[in-house]
Amino acid sequence: MTEKKLHQQSVRYIKGVGAVREKQLNRLGIQTAEDLILFFPRRYEDRRGLTSLAKLRPETTVSLLVRVVAVEKRQTSRKGFVIIQGLMTDGQDFLRAVWFNRKGLERLLTPGKEVALYGPIDWKYGHLQITNPEFEIIEEGESPESIGQVVPIYPLTAGLHQRWFRKLIRFCLDNSPFIFDPLPDFLRLKHAFPPLYDSILEMHYPQGRESWKKARDRLAYQELFVLQTGMALRRGERSRLAEKAPILPESGRLKERFLKEIFPYPLTEAQKKVSLEISQDMALNIPMHRLLQGDVGSGKTAVAVLALLQAVEGGYQGAFMAPTEILAQQHYYRLHSFLEPLGVSVVLLIGSLKNRARELTLQKISTGEAHVVVGTHALFSDPVTFSNLGFAVIDEQHRFGVLQKNALRAKGANEGQAPHILVMTATPIPRTLTLSVYGDLSVSVIDEMPPGRTPIQTRWLKKKEEGRLWAFIRERCSARERIYWVCPLIDESETLSVASVTERYEYLKKLFPDLNVGLLHGQLPSSEKETIMRSFARGHLDLIVSTTVIEVGVDVPQATVMVIEDADRFGLSQLHQLRGRVGRGGNQSYCVLLSNPTTREGVERLKVMCATTDGFKIAEADLRLRGPGEVCGVRQHGITDFRVADLLKDRSLLDMARKDAFSLVECDPRLSEEQGLLDYVLRTVGKNLELAGIA
Ligand code: ADP
Ligand code: MG
Repeated sequence: MTEKKLHQQSVRYIKGVGAVREKQLNRLGIQTAEDLILFFPRRYEDRRGLTSLAKLRPETTVSLLVRVVAVEKRQTSRKGFVIIQGLMTDGQDFLRAVWFNRKGLERLLTPGKEVALYGPIDWKYGHLQITNPEFEIIEEGESPESIGQVVPIYPLTAGLHQRWFRKLIRFCLDNSPFIFDPLPDFLRLKHAFPPLYDSILEMHYPQGRESWKKARDRLAYQELFVLQTGMALRRGERSRLAEKAPILPESGRLKERFLKEIFPYPLTEAQKKVSLEISQDMALNIPMHRLLQGDVGSGKTAVAVLALLQAVEGGYQGAFMAPTEILAQQHYYRLHSFLEPLGVSVVLLIGSLKNRARELTLQKISTGEAHVVVGTHALFSDPVTFSNLGFAVIDEQHRFGVLQKNALRAKGANEGQAPHILVMTATPIPRTLTLSVYGDLSVSVIDEMPPGRTPIQTRWLKKKEEGRLWAFIRERCSARERIYWVCPLIDESETLSVASVTERYEYLKKLFPDLNVGLLHGQLPSSEKETIMRSFARGHLDLIVSTTVIEVGVDVPQATVMVIEDADRFGLSQLHQLRGRVGRGGNQSYCVLLSNPTTREGVERLKVMCATTDGFKIAEADLRLRGPGEVCGVRQHGITDFRVADLLKDRSLLDMARKDAFSLVECDPRLSEEQGLLDYVLRTVGKNLELAGIA
């Protein structure tokens, strides 16, 4: 297996792999010989010490090197169930070994054969016995693989045995000493990493803790480096191809007036910092692609408004895109009240806008009469023509941003001009993950909350304890505070969920005849949803029973209680978003998780919610519980499917890899000096990163 490159060599052609085995290996994601040797153990067992039969003790697990004296097969009363019993010796003492249901074993373990055994010792029927031990027959002049050393244990699926798999790996390693190393030599030397082959060998057969750690770090670094090199190439490519963006100088007059006359608070330091980063980007003719992260309630709206004002001042239009109609409406009202006094005109474009009103709005957008356009993704549909769009902010909230770059570019001000783009997300994403998935974007983080917030108190109640809430709800409402009551989606079915919120609504309405209770769910027409949200905001409703449609963005400072029913059915980031609906004013706020969780993970999530309100900590817990693919919906892309690297632990390796990759690509934008690395990057991450154009 030297002629063909390892990654082109299908496992099918390896000695000992037939059609059945090939399928089983494929199921583990192993297609090629390279996949195989890069399939690392899940853990190791220290089987270095050999035990002599004289020293056996019950309830221990031991490694033995023995000879077969006799073997017999026993039929049992249960049909088809066989017991293989063997008598073993080390030349001095004897031991019984028993295997259940390993047909054919008696033909392998013939008397006189030398075998390595690894398994548990127990007292059985007055004798010591080893039960279902892993075994390996040792041929003349061979030394055992399964004992006498630290032995790798692989994460295998049904049908594959550790022993067979170990042999296969060993065979591949012995027969492919040359493996292409994508790391440029100078980087390997700079970090004093061991050679690739040695590192792989060490992962399978660790010689010691230190050397194993070095090997592991090297391989983790390498994975991160390859991905970051891809990111760097993509960024370079984009800036070469990109259209120019309009230069939007920062004169600041409108901004200044907004901050002085309209916005009721001084900006936090974090808001100032990210506003400056954004403002500097917009003053260049390179299209901005910036991700703005800030926890729920950290004040992203004000930052977006400042950027919109910069666009308007520069003589261009700005767009604000929200994920849902309710949110678009809410943002519209807010922006309208913020901006109209400054003479900036704001319009709302959503799907439910009909006929005449819609035409009028479209007209205002195309003539430039509308300075700022708020809407849903309808903004980027065909019939919308902007007069001169210079800046767009996309409020993704908890969704992981999928840049609709092409749709947006088509809306650019003039032929060949692209707008500046800011994506806002309220899911604090661990930085390691941001860099891995969004590594080619610039990132701004609001890492500080506006002052004067009292942390939300969170309690978990069992469902049968819900009665404890009634007095509490009355008390909060008589203090003129307001309450959200959220019911989850049931089995993804709208109809059933609506039935369940409606039932809860009827129940609470009867229970609190003196309170004004409202109902909100996704099947109501959007005008009705809007009316209900508005009466809640104005205090005409005390309590609102809702599905998760209120999840994002809604801002009612007087709301102080969030009850989440069946909270264990929600993901952590969703719970965090929901909780973020309260605690927006000065009053103490509460979150009640009403739930009888049925899974361990459900319990974990509730505990995390009770323990912290820090969005970044919650995001890390989420990452730990679900893995990166799930957290960010990037599973299908496979960007974060590392073999070795761990985004929770390998922060400093990631920083190193990122720095190295970006400076390498800066010096050599097409990697013409590192053709091998380029090929490797294209082959391994090229598809995920859509790097096809670079080759
Ligand atoms: P989010 O980041 O979740 O979109 P918002 O922009 O809706 O947060 O802001 C949350 C709340 O905090 C709003 O009521 C807003 O008026 C308030 N807020 C924003 N910035 C500040 C500030 N610098 N000082 C005090 N309150 C602020
Ligand atoms: Mg918001």
